[in-house]
Amino acid sequence: MTVLACPVCHRDDFANQQGFLNHCRLSHNLEFGPYEQIMLQCGTPVDESEVPLDNPARSRPMGMIPAAAR
Ligand SMILES: [Zn+2]
Repeated sequence: MTVLACPVCHRDDFANQQGFLNHCRLSHNLEFGPYEQIMLQCGTPVDESEVPLDNPARSRPMGMIPAAAR
């Protein structure tokens, strides 16, 4: 699975990709290009065993994985 983390403040508890983009834009004036570029810049591939059970990413793993990587 892949976790999106803010490249500036390293926050990673976003409800979805849109929340992530809004945070970056509003908080840091960051703009991203295509989705693939977002994943390249901010996506952190993690083994599922390394994700804490209470990490919000666990409840939405598929939403954060680009279709091309499935
Ligand atoms: Zn941030």
